[in-house]
Amino acid sequence: MSEEPLFEDIKKELIAQKREKKEIDEIEKAFLFAKRLHDGQYRISEEPYIIHPVEVAKILVGLKVDSHTLMAAFLHDILEDTDTRPEEIEELFGKDVLTLVQGVTKLSKLQFKSNEERQAENFRRLFIAMANDIRIVFLKLADRLHNMRTLNFMAANKQQKIARETLDIFAPLANRLGIGRIKAELEDLSLRYLEPDKYFEIAQLVAQTKSEREATVKLLIDKISQDVKKSGINAQITGRAKHYYSIYSKMKRLNIAFHDLYDITAVRVIVDSEKECYEVLGLIHSQFKPIPGRFKDYIAMPKGNMYQSLHTSVIGPRSKPLEVQIRTWEMHEIAEYGVAAHWRYKEKGSQKANNPSDIQFSWMRKLVEYNKEVTSAEDFVDSVKIDLFSDQVFAFTPNGDVFDLPVNATPVDFAYRIHSEVGNKTVGALVNGRIAQLDTKLKNGDIVEILTSKTPAPRLDWLNFVVTKQAASKIKQWFKKNNREEHIEVGRANLEHELTKAVFDEYLKSGELEKTAKQMNYVSTDDLFAALGYGETTVNKIVNKLKKPDNAKSHEFHGGSRKKSEKDIIGLEGLLYSIAKCCSPIPGEPIVGVVTRAKGVTVHRIDCQTLEHIEPERLMDIKWSGDNTNKTYNTTIRVETAEKMGLLKDIIAAVSDNNTNITYANVKSKNGKIGIIELGMELDNVDTLKKVILSIQAIPDVYSVKRIQTSYPTQNAPRKNNGKQKKLPKKN
Ligand code: MN
Repeated sequence: MSEEPLFEDIKKELIAQKREKKEIDEIEKAFLFAKRLHDGQYRISEEPYIIHPVEVAKILVGLKVDSHTLMAAFLHDILEDTDTRPEEIEELFGKDVLTLVQGVTKLSKLQFKSNEERQAENFRRLFIAMANDIRIVFLKLADRLHNMRTLNFMAANKQQKIARETLDIFAPLANRLGIGRIKAELEDLSLRYLEPDKYFEIAQLVAQTKSEREATVKLLIDKISQDVKKSGINAQITGRAKHYYSIYSKMKRLNIAFHDLYDITAVRVIVDSEKECYEVLGLIHSQFKPIPGRFKDYIAMPKGNMYQSLHTSVIGPRSKPLEVQIRTWEMHEIAEYGVAAHWRYKEKGSQKANNPSDIQFSWMRKLVEYNKEVTSAEDFVDSVKIDLFSDQVFAFTPNGDVFDLPVNATPVDFAYRIHSEVGNKTVGALVNGRIAQLDTKLKNGDIVEILTSKTPAPRLDWLNFVVTKQAASKIKQWFKKNNREEHIEVGRANLEHELTKAVFDEYLKSGELEKTAKQMNYVSTDDLFAALGYGETTVNKIVNKLKKPDNAKSHEFHGGSRKKSEKDIIGLEGLLYSIAKCCSPIPGEPIVGVVTRAKGVTVHRIDCQTLEHIEPERLMDIKWSGDNTNKTYNTTIRVETAEKMGLLKDIIAAVSDNNTNITYANVKSKNGKIGIIELGMELDNVDTLKKVILSIQAIPDVYSVKRIQTSYPTQNAPRKNNGKQKKLPKKN
C-alpha cells in the first residue's frame, strides 16, 4: 500500500495492537475509498473533510474496536454527503460494514429537543434501541466527540445546542456504556461552551495548583511505596486533577468556591489483583487518617456500568484531603473503555457468546439488571448484537418528547400515554406526517401527532388493539362511567326491535351474535350492544353482518311479522337491504332501490352512475322516512387544499365538531401544489353533511369540498341473466 500520512498514526496503533496484516489492509482500503469520495469537500474549519473520519477512526482505534467498526468510521459520512450507493459499500466492504454505516446515518437524523430529564433518558434508550448494534453507538459517540473537539468553528447558537445535547444525551450514554474516557472529555467540552466563564476559571485554577498537587502526590508515594514494595505488590501510583466538569458539578452541588473544594486531586493506584487492592487500602489507611463516610467498595458492589474500584478519602500529606482510587489493571481497562473493553470479535460478527461465563454475557447481564425494565438476560446472549430494548418502541410527539411504549403499541396507546384526556378525544393520528389507522403498530422513532375532537368519544373496538394496560383501563373506565349498562340496554333493545324478538333470541342462542360481535372487533355481545347504544356502530352494520340462521324462514325474517316498526326507508319494510357503497346515499337525498339476486335490495342515490346499466323492472321506488335518528351512514368527501399538513388537523376537527365520525382518511397531493384529502365519515343525514361541508369550506386555504362517488363497482353491482330473480313485494 502507498504511504499515506493521514493513515500513518492509525496504522502504527493497529500494528501495536497486533492486528493481522489482512485486517489492516482492509481498513486502509476503506480509508482510501472515503478519501477519494470526500475529495474536494471541506469542513467549516476549512480542513479537508477526510480529516473528520480519520479523527473519528483514531478515537475508535483507542477503544480497540473491531476492524469493521474502523472501516465504518472512515465511511460513516459518505451515504449522507456523497452519491455513493449502499450497494457499493456492501460490494466493497461487506454487509456488516454497510449495516454499521447505515446505522450511524440513521441515528444522525434523530433530533433531541426537550430538556426534561425523563425525556433525555428515553432518548438515550431510544438511541441504543435504534442502534441495535452497540458498535453503532461507539461510532456515534466517536463522531460526536470529534465534532465537539472542533466545535469552535461553529456559529455560537449551534455551539450551545450541540453542547447541551452532548451533555444531556451523549455523555450519559458514554457513562452508561462505561466509557469513562469519552464521557469525561464530552462533559468538559460541553462545559466549555455552556458555561465558558466557569470552565476557564476552573481550568486556570487547576493549572495553578498543578505543582502543589504533584508535590502532594510525591509525598504520598514516598510515604507508602516502601510498604507497598515490602508487601511484594507491584503498584503504579499517579495523581491528577479530576476532570473539569466533575469539579464544576461538585462546586455547584455543594454551592462552594473552588478553594473550598478539598478533593480535586485524585490519586490512582493500579495493582495486579483484587486482593492487592484491599492490601493497598490497608497500607494507605495505616499511614493516613481516613475521612469517615468516604470509603466506597465498588469492587464488591460494582456500579451499574460495571465500574469497579475502591474509593477512599484520607487526610494526606501536609494535612490536605486526598481522594484515592484503587483498582486492578483489568478494572482500569473497564473504567476507561467500558463495554468496549470487552467488545472483541474473534470472527466477523459471527461469534456466538453462549458460554455463561463469557465476559460479554456478564456485561450484558449486568447492564440488563441495571435496566430493570428488561427481564430476560438470556435473550441477549445468542448474538453479539445488543438489543437492550427489543420489547419497547420509542415514539416522539411533534415537540420532540419521547414516550416509551411496549412493542405493538398503537397511536391510541400513545394518546393515552400523553394523557387520558387526549386518549379519550382521539379521532385520528398522523404518523410521520401521514394519516395512519389508529391500530397502526408504531416503530422506533415514529413521530406521532394525535388528532382530537372537542368532546371525548373513545371507541370500544379500540380494546382489541391497544396493548398498554393504561389505555385499556382508561377506555373501560370511560364507558363504565358513562353508563355502560344503559348503553347495553339501549343497543340491545334497538337490535331486538329491528330483528324482532324471536329472531334476536335465535341469533343470540346460536352464538351467531357473538360471532358477529367478534367479527366487528368487539370482545363480547355486551360490548357490541353498548357500542350500538352509544352510537359507535349501527343496526344496519350489525344486521348486514349477521348470517341468516338456517331456520330463519320459519321466522319469516324477510317478510312476515311486520308490526308497524320504525324504519328508516319507506318502501322496504321487512326487506333485507343494504346501502350501496358506490354512492353511499344518506338520509335526505333522493334514493332508489335495486333488487339483487343474493342480497335483497341495495339502496342507491338516484343519480348513481351504476344505475345506467340496470333493467328498469329491478328498480324500486323508495324514500327516506325521516325516522332514522339512531343510525349513521357512510359517505366520502374530497377536499382540495393548499399543500399544508396542518390543515388536515383543522379539517378533522371541523368534522368531529359536527358529531360525525371519521372512518377513513387519505392524503395525496396534486402537482406537489394542491393537497387532496379524502375523508370517509359516518353521519346521520344530508343536513349534517351540509354542515360539515360548510365548516370545512370556512377553513382558510381550503379550495373546494366535494362529495365523491367511489368509482369501483360494489359487491352489490347487478349481474346479467338473473331472470330468475323474484320480484320482491313492493310497498307503498
Ligand atoms: Mn461525522
